[in-house]
Amino acid sequence: MLDLSADKTAAPQPESSAETRMWGPRDDAPPQTRPAPLVDPFQRAITYLRLSVTDRCDFRCAYCMAEDMQFLPKRDLLTLEELDRLCAVFVARGVRKLRITGGEPLVRRDILQLFRRLSRHLTSGALDELTLTTNGSQLARFAPELADLGVRRINVSLDTLDPEKFRAITRRGDLATVLGGIEAAQAAGIRVKLNAVALKGVNEDEIAPMLVWAHERGMDLTLIEVMPLGEIEGDRTDQFLPLSVARARLQERFTLTPLPDRTGGPARYVRVEETGGRLGFITPLTHNFCESCNRVRLTCTGKLYMCLGQEDAADLRAALRASPDDALVTQAVIDAIARKPKGHDFVIERARPAAVPRHMSVTGG
Ligand code: SAM
Ligand code: SF4
Repeated sequence: MLDLSADKTAAPQPESSAETRMWGPRDDAPPQTRPAPLVDPFQRAITYLRLSVTDRCDFRCAYCMAEDMQFLPKRDLLTLEELDRLCAVFVARGVRKLRITGGEPLVRRDILQLFRRLSRHLTSGALDELTLTTNGSQLARFAPELADLGVRRINVSLDTLDPEKFRAITRRGDLATVLGGIEAAQAAGIRVKLNAVALKGVNEDEIAPMLVWAHERGMDLTLIEVMPLGEIEGDRTDQFLPLSVARARLQERFTLTPLPDRTGGPARYVRVEETGGRLGFITPLTHNFCESCNRVRLTCTGKLYMCLGQEDAADLRAALRASPDDALVTQAVIDAIARKPKGHDFVIERARPAAVPRHMSVTGG
């Protein structure tokens, strides 16, 4: 239905063009005419939107999904045009950073259509960054065009450099394909940051070698603690490796100098003096980042979660579909931000169901 090649090469279209009719009016208003930004009850400005474009994935990482994961019926998903419209509402209200995630974002059909549309906010200066989090399986195919569209940095999830272990953790992934994707991204000029979930008894012995490997190739590495999100077959307390333990072990071998870098999220960074690279620690079970939280998460069905660790969500799909005008959906966003909670409720405790019933692949990591 949509002509992919035309969108890629076309000069700016007049408002009445076929593309504009398909995707709705453009939102290229200069920043000075923009309406009031989104500020929550705790005076936190919401400048960062993470958008999950699909709950589906070509992997089944053991800590993330059940082997026989039930995915949403495709009819429940917002169209790419609707996702674009929602993003424009957020950008008009002061969101400066947009991360596309999932599930695996690059398995969503025609996903580059969405990136092509969203890149106009980079061109207009309304958006500082358009980025994505990916498992890397499709990167070799998409990296050059993503770079052309203004994607400068991406996060690639990689928990091990051992092909067997990689297969076991992801249940179906191929390490060589992912490494090829990382190389393709770097060759296209995209900076890659690696994310590794620290898993007790699985990859804890690999953290130091992965750190050296990543830094040698110009990539930062961020370690993530397992979060109790969604039911999986096993017990996450078996997998939980506190990053305080991982950090203490690294300090026996490396000099870690804390850096002031803050993202408004749960990551804290150090410089590894021996390698010159950056190492991040994401410890979402602590509360030490909630006071500076600048982000909200939107699912592929149009649910807006104001906090990764809370159940409260606003249904933007109904407001979006109720009117072609953006007034209703904008009001729904403003009302939702007014409910953003002060902090989250994560607890990892044995013999308890997952603290938050929805999987990370639904809300978007
Ligand atoms: N499929 C993409 C990927 O793997 O990068 C994007 C979505 S994935 C849900 C985003 C991140 O969430 C990944 O780095 C993954 O390792 C992490 N993740 C998934 N489930 C998690 C959990 N229960 N606890 C901590 N991190 C999790
Ligand atoms: Fe897929 Fe990412 Fe979840 Fe792994 S972590 S199953 S790659 S969504």
